[in-house]
Amino acid sequence: MTIREAAKRAAAAVDEERLWRRHMAMAEIGRTRVGGVSRQALSGDDIRARVLLLQWAAARGYEPAVDDIANLFVRRPGRDPDAAPVVAGSHMDSQPAGGRFDGIFGVLAGLEALEALDDAGVASARPIDVVAWTNEEGGRFAPGAMGSAVFAKHMRLADCLDLEDAAGIALRDALAETLAATPGLARRPFGFPIAAYVEPHIEQGPQLEATGKQIGVVTGIQGARWYVVEVTGEPGHAGTAPLGARKDAVRASVAMIAGLQELMHDETDQLRFTVGRIEVIPNSPNTIPASVTFSIDFRHPEAAVLDQRGARIEEVCRRFAGPCDVRVTETFNRPPCAFPVRIVDAIEKAAHDLGIPYMRLPSGAFHDANFIADLAPTGMIFVPCEKGISHSPAENAKPEDLAAGARVLAATLIDLAGPRS
Ligand SMILES: [Zn+2]
Repeated sequence: MTIREAAKRAAAAVDEERLWRRHMAMAEIGRTRVGGVSRQALSGDDIRARVLLLQWAAARGYEPAVDDIANLFVRRPGRDPDAAPVVAGSHMDSQPAGGRFDGIFGVLAGLEALEALDDAGVASARPIDVVAWTNEEGGRFAPGAMGSAVFAKHMRLADCLDLEDAAGIALRDALAETLAATPGLARRPFGFPIAAYVEPHIEQGPQLEATGKQIGVVTGIQGARWYVVEVTGEPGHAGTAPLGARKDAVRASVAMIAGLQELMHDETDQLRFTVGRIEVIPNSPNTIPASVTFSIDFRHPEAAVLDQRGARIEEVCRRFAGPCDVRVTETFNRPPCAFPVRIVDAIEKAAHDLGIPYMRLPSGAFHDANFIADLAPTGMIFVPCEKGISHSPAENAKPEDLAAGARVLAATLIDLAGPRS
């Protein structure tokens, strides 16, 4: 059987109805009154989702394993048991007011792809693992993408253990409880060799829906720079202090933000610039604002744009500060990640051969793929979600689009893992 035949057979065996049923079963775990999902990392609901996934995997005889931060792996063996696996998946935790598809789609599409390979009678040379990375969302224990970051040795597990959630529960204890709830699993080391990693995910943006494409072939993940701007003025009486003598921190901040919007203007509409938090002190209607702190979230797929415009942020803030003092602090800087051509092409070829409409696009949001890309050739497959909405109970996706994503995944996996001749 050629790779192309094997890929087509595997894709044809993807069962749309089964995949949808599993999404709805997972959506019951942590279901909120408004029809969303709250399944926070290392919670009782996270544990229940893990147990359910393991039940489905056991029914097919797949081999479960876990690592020390509870990243969960389910393996369909290949002909060569010692070969590095091809890995597919995402995360099962959600935001506190999250939806039914963010993260879980990648895990369930991975499982569906394995079952499709079984049902099509297609074996692979390499093992194929489905992964559920721990704590991608970071809503309970910050930062997010913790499981993949620790796996990729960007962060040390020891530095995460003392983190506490809002109720004062330490990550150490939540993690121990999670690991104890699924006993007897084989243990994997952090950073074990991975031949390739593919993460299916809902797009979390509007482009696929707007253009009528079912598949986004993701070219990379845009970079981000975050800043905090502190503007210091002088308080005073709103009724008596003459305007000309004021050091009004809000007035200065408004001018700065307008100047920054000018700096961040982008004809191609690729750049993302957000001032999402403004804190005013003393925040009284009758007092001249003494100080303002505002945030900047600036993202772009190209490092040069991040470098050049990012370098001008402080200068623009100073130019519009008037009589106020300003301090600009960069709090986060993550360069863009470009996925290797080999993986991007494999995903595109799979969509093309299956006759599924696709487009290339970068990812606006962060994903576990960010960190795994440092370890292994990585790619992502996007499927449309309604109006691009995510991190919301209104998050929605169509069964046929989810199935298309699983089909492209199955075909890509067999391409990357090699069919057994
Ligand atoms: Zn996600």
